[in-house]
Amino acid sequence: MTLSESFASVSYIAAIGLFILSLGGLSQHESSRRGNMFGIIGMLLALVATLAIVGTHPDASASTFGILAVVLIAAGTIGAFVASRVAMTSMPELVAMLHSFVGAAAVLVGFSNYLGPQHAAGSDALVHELEIYIGIFIGAITFTGSIIAFGKLNGKISGKPLMIPGRHLINLLMVIACVVLGVMFVQGTEAAAQGGLTELIIMTVIAGVIGVHLVMAIGGADMPVVVSMLNSYSGWAAAAAGFMLENDLLIVTGALVGSSGAILSFIMCRAMNRSFISVILGGFGTGGGSSPAAGSEQPQGEVTPINVDQTADMLSEAKNVIIVPGYGVAVAQAQHSLAEMVKLLRDAGVNVRFGIHPVAGRLPGHMNVLLAEANVPYDIVFEMDELNHDFPTTDVAMVIGANDIVNPAALEDPTSPIAGMPVLEVWKAKTCVVMKRSMASGYAGIDNPLFYKENTRMLFGDAKKNVDALVAKLRELEPA
Ligand code: NDP
Repeated sequence: MTLSESFASVSYIAAIGLFILSLGGLSQHESSRRGNMFGIIGMLLALVATLAIVGTHPDASASTFGILAVVLIAAGTIGAFVASRVAMTSMPELVAMLHSFVGAAAVLVGFSNYLGPQHAAGSDALVHELEIYIGIFIGAITFTGSIIAFGKLNGKISGKPLMIPGRHLINLLMVIACVVLGVMFVQGTEAAAQGGLTELIIMTVIAGVIGVHLVMAIGGADMPVVVSMLNSYSGWAAAAAGFMLENDLLIVTGALVGSSGAILSFIMCRAMNRSFISVILGGFGTGGGSSPAAGSEQPQGEVTPINVDQTADMLSEAKNVIIVPGYGVAVAQAQHSLAEMVKLLRDAGVNVRFGIHPVAGRLPGHMNVLLAEANVPYDIVFEMDELNHDFPTTDVAMVIGANDIVNPAALEDPTSPIAGMPVLEVWKAKTCVVMKRSMASGYAGIDNPLFYKENTRMLFGDAKKNVDALVAKLRELEPA
């Protein structure tokens, strides 16, 4: 083993350790920044080690490194530019788009491996052909599925599930066709070098259609699961590419992403009280509109409005306040103002806590990221299960830019598209103040009976403007 190869092996093991530490760190708010740093260092190490391995190849020359440098600098610059400019509300689309790149990479690696020089023979060759076939299959599903998810998340494709009659049968037939083509592919390659290319191409097209069909059939309300599921698929696609390239680091990293994505999907399903299989098979959830006028349900009752001054008085007189943030906080970028308001209230002796729903916002952990960005103390941020039973003893529950995650219909109306989904039971507080701009529905496109409850007050307007006004009023109320 040369020095470069030894360095690469040790670096790969170190990078794997750093990726595991990164995942561990990202599971807690307190350690998430550290976790991110471990991930960045691990990835840097992996890149350097890969370059060292490239250097050991007999055909490697200065121009090989020149090409790699150009590609790395160009890709790094594009990545940094896009990531620094992306709005917090567009993050889910960006993630979906990045998943599609992993899928496309697995397909391309598969084809290049297949068309490149064949090294293995006998049973090794069979294993290699299967790696290529399965890698391209998973990659193609991930690629097209992620593109559809991207379209659904940014509203270019309707959030309504596409319910083609006999869709389960269609999916089954497509999978059977891929298995049959797989057998023909192996036989074809045994008969002649690259003899199974036609089967490989047909399977890639069918797998692409499966990806489109699977995600098109999933309704708006179940998109959180789709996002984490595609995250998992992208991990398996990367692992498959690792097998094709015989790269241990890629195999382990892909498996880490694949399994953590699968666990996250399971957690999201539990949070929404859905069965994993039924979400994957599709058909749940309704449209993804945001305005009742755009085809979702019309408001069905009278609401009681409240103004900023009245809300500030109510908050300053309260002993216990629970704030429930939702997607609107990300839209309004109200997190910093919110942190300021919470500080003022806490300084005045009010017990303020945040209640976070697992699917709040448009990305797993969306609200935690926003609150961390605004330096909200972690010890006042609670998961839904940790404080749902505290609402009856809460003076004011303040819903800011949230809708579906506080919809009582989930518990009270078995016909609701979100029936059975656990929600934050804000209506059980003495008073519930809902801050949003209009009577528009949330992501699931359904009306919210919370708005018409006797103890609910609607504070209409943009979340940032309203919270800023509340901060100003609370300062006025501060004892001199
Ligand atoms: P919702 O989409 O249900 O509601 C957000 C509310 O915020 C809207 O009703 C909107 O009302 C209000 N809003 C928007 N902009 C502003 C603003 N500038 N100021 C004040 N209010 C604003 O979000 P929730 O967080 O309650 O629920 C998340 C939903 O998203 C769930 O249905 C979940 O399934 C879905 N989802 C979640 C994903 C995840 O991974 N977390 C991924 C994909 C979907 P108005 O327009 O009147 O202001």
